[in-house]
Amino acid sequence: MHAYTMLINGVQVAGENGQFDVINPATGSAFAQCPAGSLGQLDEAVAAAQAAFKTWRHSAHERRCEHLNAIANDIEQDADALARLIVMEQGKPLELAFSEVMGAAAWTRYAAGQEIAVELVEETPTQRVELHRKPLGVVASITPWNWPFMIAVWHIMPALRAGNCVISKPSSLTPLSTLRLVEIIARHVPHGVINCVTGEQGFGSAITAHPGIQKIVFTGSTATGQSVMRGAAANLKRLTLELGGNDAAIVLPGTPVHEVAEEVFQAAFLNMGQTCAALKRLYVHQSQYQEFAEALTQIAERQVVGDGLEPGVNFGPVQNLDQLELVQALVADARAQGARVLCGGARLDRPGFFYPPTLVADVTDGQRLVDEEQFGPVLPLIAYEDVEDVLRRANAGDMGLGGSVWGPDSEQAQALASRLESGVAWVNCHARIQPNTPFGGSKMSGFGVEFGLEGLLEFTGQQLLFVNKRAAE
Ligand code: NAD
Repeated sequence: MHAYTMLINGVQVAGENGQFDVINPATGSAFAQCPAGSLGQLDEAVAAAQAAFKTWRHSAHERRCEHLNAIANDIEQDADALARLIVMEQGKPLELAFSEVMGAAAWTRYAAGQEIAVELVEETPTQRVELHRKPLGVVASITPWNWPFMIAVWHIMPALRAGNCVISKPSSLTPLSTLRLVEIIARHVPHGVINCVTGEQGFGSAITAHPGIQKIVFTGSTATGQSVMRGAAANLKRLTLELGGNDAAIVLPGTPVHEVAEEVFQAAFLNMGQTCAALKRLYVHQSQYQEFAEALTQIAERQVVGDGLEPGVNFGPVQNLDQLELVQALVADARAQGARVLCGGARLDRPGFFYPPTLVADVTDGQRLVDEEQFGPVLPLIAYEDVEDVLRRANAGDMGLGGSVWGPDSEQAQALASRLESGVAWVNCHARIQPNTPFGGSKMSGFGVEFGLEGLLEFTGQQLLFVNKRAAE
């Protein structure tokens, strides 16, 4: 079994607390071992990052740009091996894993090309006021298990681009592609600029409380995000919190069902539904409910479920048993309340954590499958009659990551979308994200954004330079 190492101060090291198993969700069995770091090793990583920051913060923007482009080249060169590793630790089909890797390279290039300009606030004969942006210091990146490679890149690249040093802490369920990523990054940056530590219970909270860390960029569940925020209070760490979502989509009357069904399906079941901004509640007008349900069922039944490394498979397993059991519990609860399971609805009788794409009709608000984030391959279809009422239901929950409105009249759909209480409102699409479009949640889905200039600036602090010209005369 291949042994992986952590990266501290440019050196690949074993974990002082031994190793733990990494499970392949397509088999349910361990296929690799991940180092279990000690809290002492976390301290070493923080000290290395602090030391490296003294020079990295002053490195020329052009140099950082070159480093990031070189990293993007290496990611692309290793794309096949990285994609296979992602399939084994995460479960997604190979083609999707490959696009995760290539997307990560594209995001890296975008970060390389970004600029942080000095903003001239005021210039008069007597004074000049400028707003400067400075790196924060040591940034800790804590990532989840759904898009492990991509999300690590989303965190690390803008942090480095802005002149910070990084401690990366991947999910213990999917740590291996991140360990490979930091090996690649370390080829191109000075020792200590990037570090990666892995460990189980207690490791995340030790990071959030660590006094040597200035910022945490966290992607994960809302409950853990709250714990991160509590831990960060001690030294007032800056935070970007990308948390859970329960995105609603509203399909307005007259929507061309067969034109949009495929995109709706993909938005809901992307990565087996394990995507933060996946479509998680589908509200369809009563007049088209049956037609929509049939169109989606046909698409669901075409999916080829299996091990993501097998040719032809386009629907992999759920990443872990806990998540699978949550999906099973939500579907069981809906069934008990009279819901109709249109397709899927039962774990496959084979090793691994397989659950086919599942559509559940005749459910409504107030039931767990609608009110809670399923984060898995099941979509509730909810009928509505009145547009104002459905908007109220879409906005009713605590979450506010994304949402969408679909309809034949774009202006009408836009007007409704702008009333969604969500960080992103899509019209006639869902879950589209790009390196240049700021993305982030509202309400209990978190705060702060990633991507675009706004995302980059989250990795900086500001200093106002206020010059009294008279004094110099
Ligand atoms: P999680 O909160 O269980 O874990 C996320 C990370 O936090 C992991 O690395 C984990 O080891 C670490 N962690 C656990 N306890 C910690 C603690 N006390 N302090 C600090 N770190 C700790 O989330 P998950 O199950 O890995 O991911 C699924 C969740 O992530 C879903 O709710 C999903 O919606 C959300 N998510 C959000 C976005 C977004 O951009 N908003 C993107 C992807 C996933």
